[in-house]
Amino acid sequence: MTKELSLLMLAGDGIGPEIMVEARRVVDWLMENRGLNFTVHEGLVGGAAYDVFGVALDDDTLALARQVDAVMLGAVGGPKWDGVDYDKRPEAGLLTLRKELGLFANLRPAICFEPLVEASSLKPELVSGLDIMIVRELTGGVYFGEPRGIETLENGERRGVNTQVYTTSEIHRIARVAFELAAKRGGRVTSSEKANVMESGLLWREEVTVIAADYPEIKLDHMLADSCAMQLVRAPKQFDVIVTDNLFGDLLSDVAAMLTGSLGMLPSAALGVKGGGAMYEPVHGSAPDIAGKGVANPIATILSLAMALRYTFDCEAEAQMIEDAVQNVLAGGLRTADIMQPGKAKVSTSVMGDSILRALDRLNEK
Ligand code: NAD
Repeated sequence: MTKELSLLMLAGDGIGPEIMVEARRVVDWLMENRGLNFTVHEGLVGGAAYDVFGVALDDDTLALARQVDAVMLGAVGGPKWDGVDYDKRPEAGLLTLRKELGLFANLRPAICFEPLVEASSLKPELVSGLDIMIVRELTGGVYFGEPRGIETLENGERRGVNTQVYTTSEIHRIARVAFELAAKRGGRVTSSEKANVMESGLLWREEVTVIAADYPEIKLDHMLADSCAMQLVRAPKQFDVIVTDNLFGDLLSDVAAMLTGSLGMLPSAALGVKGGGAMYEPVHGSAPDIAGKGVANPIATILSLAMALRYTFDCEAEAQMIEDAVQNVLAGGLRTADIMQPGKAKVSTSVMGDSILRALDRLNEK
């Protein structure tokens, strides 16, 4: 009997259910054709959960999320819940999952699929073959640091405060994630901060360097975050793994994302301590403007499943097969509306899903 792999699929709102169905079909395909032994649970999150339970994530679903090996999330949010209190908003479900599962490392690959080279805002030669991994610290830094708030001073002026703060252990654990990833990729880590003007950046630089000593085979360099943003659009292929804090990671990963074309193509992972929780989700949101129309691109979600296979389930061969299947379908000229190009065939969400399954069949026969 092969090892049991447990997965919780939370489709969420908007296009979430449409794209998650296609990822589920790939899971079923893996069980039928590759002998993987998945136990798949499904549940509600976001607005869909609020409508039923009055909260964006109920206790039973959270308990299940803690038990399984990995969570897959579609997307949450939409105008229907705009008036709901902040602590019950759809986004609160996502934030609770990240916090409760201790997901401190956000992995965002920026891979340029060859057939989509022309869709990038950069020249084809700059992005052809691009494969970067951005590792963003997700639970610390200025988004969470105290003190924070807006106060009114004695002179009547208002003052807004946020605090950028990192500790040694927070930097060490995210640095280790980056070095371990680099060991399985190109063997290079670029650490990015603002050590020239921020003490927390200097600490980041020093402590990443401490961890580098445990990984002598990895080449580490440091780059100021503003320079890193510039280099990402000037010569992105110079990077392998970029590790950075929560704020700079937020910005740099969005810059890197746009090098590859469309939001509908971008997967992500959020990882906790080794052997702990993990959540995989597309980078895009619930796309209320196209929800229910059957036109959403399911590729980001299917590639998120590939990341789960690689980083949680230790099924590298199957992860690679999924990525190759996506590449082959795109090379065959099929496009959802968001990545449509002249001379290509526009297809629906489900036809894109079907085509990826057929491409997997062909790869599996080889
Ligand atoms: P969005 O990512 O949902 O959509 C931005 C644009 O990209 C839209 O035009 C949309 O149609 C398009 N798009 C997104 N994903 C697509 C896909 N798979 N296929 C084809 N086109 C796609 O961002 P938004 O419009 O700013 O936000 C909509 C809702 O999603 C909001 O409620 C927001 O809070 C929420 N949101 C959720 C997450 C998440 O769940 N992780 C992330 C971002 C935004």
